[in-house]
Amino acid sequence: MSKPRFATTWLAGCSGCHMSFLDLDERLLDLAEIVDICYSPILDIKEFPEGVDIVLVEGAVANEEHVRDLRRIRERAQVLVAFGDCAVTGNVTAMRNLFSVEDVLQRAYGEATVVTGVPSGNGIVPKLLERVLRVQDVVAVDYFLPGCPPGAGVIYDFLIALLSGKKPSNEGWKFGS
Ligand code: SF4
Repeated sequence: MSKPRFATTWLAGCSGCHMSFLDLDERLLDLAEIVDICYSPILDIKEFPEGVDIVLVEGAVANEEHVRDLRRIRERAQVLVAFGDCAVTGNVTAMRNLFSVEDVLQRAYGEATVVTGVPSGNGIVPKLLERVLRVQDVVAVDYFLPGCPPGAGVIYDFLIALLSGKKPSNEGWKFGS
C-alpha cells in the first residue's frame, strides 16, 4: 500500500514553525516510515505537486505570489493545515497591517537600506497585498495548529492522530471553520 503523500510549505513567516518541525529529531525517521514527504523546504523541489494528502502551511499571506501559490496548494492537497500562529491569525506578519503598504516599503527600502527605489511589483519582487491575510481568508482550512511555533510534540501528536485515521481530538486543532 502506498504511503500518504505529505508536504510542508511556507508563505510569510519566520520559518520558526519549520524549525519546530525539524525539532522532531529522530521522530522524523518514524514519520518518514509512514509518509512520503513529497514537497517541503527541506527538499529541492520547485513545484508543488499534485495528489498531496496532507500539507502544513506556515505563514500568513502577504503578497500576490502567496495568493497564487496557496490557491494551487489548496487545489492539489486533500487536507490543508494552517500551521502556526502566522497562518492561523496573521500574528507577527500581520503587524504591518498597522501601516500602509507605501509606508512599509518606504521604511524597508527607502530608509533602512542603501537600495534606492521600491522593488515591490516590479516583476522580481511580488506585489504586497494591501493587508496581510490569514490562510483561511484565502482558502478553506481543514485544521488549525496554533502556536508560535507549535511545539514539536504537538506537531507529532497531531500528525500521528491524523495519519491514524483519527480525527485529532483536541478541539483547539479545529476551530472557526
Ligand atoms: Fe515564526 Fe511564530 Fe510565525 Fe511560526 S507562528 S512563522 S514561529 S512568527
